Amino acid sequence: MSVRVEVVRDGGNPQDLAAIERVGKHRFRVRPYSEDGDANYKFALNIRLINDGAEPEPVALEVDWGDERYMEARRFLYIGNGDHWCLTPTVLAGPVSTANLLLSPGGYSVGLSPAYGLGEYERWAAVGSAAAYRRRVAGLSNDGREIHAYELGSGDTRILVTGRYHPYETASSFCVEGMMDWLARPAAEQEALLERYTFTFVPLPNPDGVYWGLCKRTGPGGVDLSHEGALGGDATNRVLLSVIDAVHPQGFLDIHGWMYLEQDGLHFLDAGLGDRFAAHLSEHPLFAGNKWKGTSGDDQAEGSIRARAHRLHGSVPLAVSYRWPGRTVAQMRALGGPTLAAFCTAIA
Ligand SMILES: [Zn+2]
Repeated sequence: MSVRVEVVRDGGNPQDLAAIERVGKHRFRVRPYSEDGDANYKFALNIRLINDGAEPEPVALEVDWGDERYMEARRFLYIGNGDHWCLTPTVLAGPVSTANLLLSPGGYSVGLSPAYGLGEYERWAAVGSAAAYRRRVAGLSNDGREIHAYELGSGDTRILVTGRYHPYETASSFCVEGMMDWLARPAAEQEALLERYTFTFVPLPNPDGVYWGLCKRTGPGGVDLSHEGALGGDATNRVLLSVIDAVHPQGFLDIHGWMYLEQDGLHFLDAGLGDRFAAHLSEHPLFAGNKWKGTSGDDQAEGSIRARAHRLHGSVPLAVSYRWPGRTVAQMRALGGPTLAAFCTAIA
């Protein structure tokens, strides 16, 4: 057989071989895994498609999502490697989305988002702008993985930036990585921000969830850091809370991804903040004509980690959710700098 599907160990979903079936010579059926069955977060998929032959081969990949409500968000797949991905349309039938491909020789990752596992983070932390930051181990996750906090700047106003609470939302990791790269670059705008603010970043507060390719939680039976994180339900969760309490931030920017095809999301306590943030970004070419879907007040729920920071520390929180369709990996990274600058302007 020249074409096969392989399980991915770091960030893969599904990771159980029994969830991948060969149903024809070049036809495969894959059932993604969800740790809690919540269809609203069932967007994690990351497998390898491999063509060992010398010629392109036709391949049909059927993904059985076990859900019919959110199929609109599953009408495409990303196929590629590293920074280079093709958006490939799928055919929807009930809970199954099928991609009919002509697969070139080689190996390719397949998912609803470009892949970003622990390996990508570790490579960035080893050679990227990370060296410019004061880095510390903030604590250990449930499985004993290090969770890192990075600090830069000398100003009196403290800003905390977090990302990737929800493991399927790889947009968040690319964006925060790009944001940290941008902030460490020597230029007048960044130098002014670093004089005025002290920034703390927790780019990967849920390393177990990322490694296991989960949708939403810190583990099977674990915590949804966004909506339950105020309660400190497990070790991973408590590390994030300890950073928030140590930083005592005036501004709290939390980066997510989501599955809307055309809109980006803003979640705030103060509608004026959302408006100022979006207005500032509208001047940037990457956001020209961008559509925002704003939500006020949902952060007031008891479990919300952002509402807790507001209550205990007076933090001004903003959660931003970026969509993948219409963006490359390079563009997702490039959103980071303007996003941070717009947040600083909006809270000033
Ligand atoms: Zn999220």
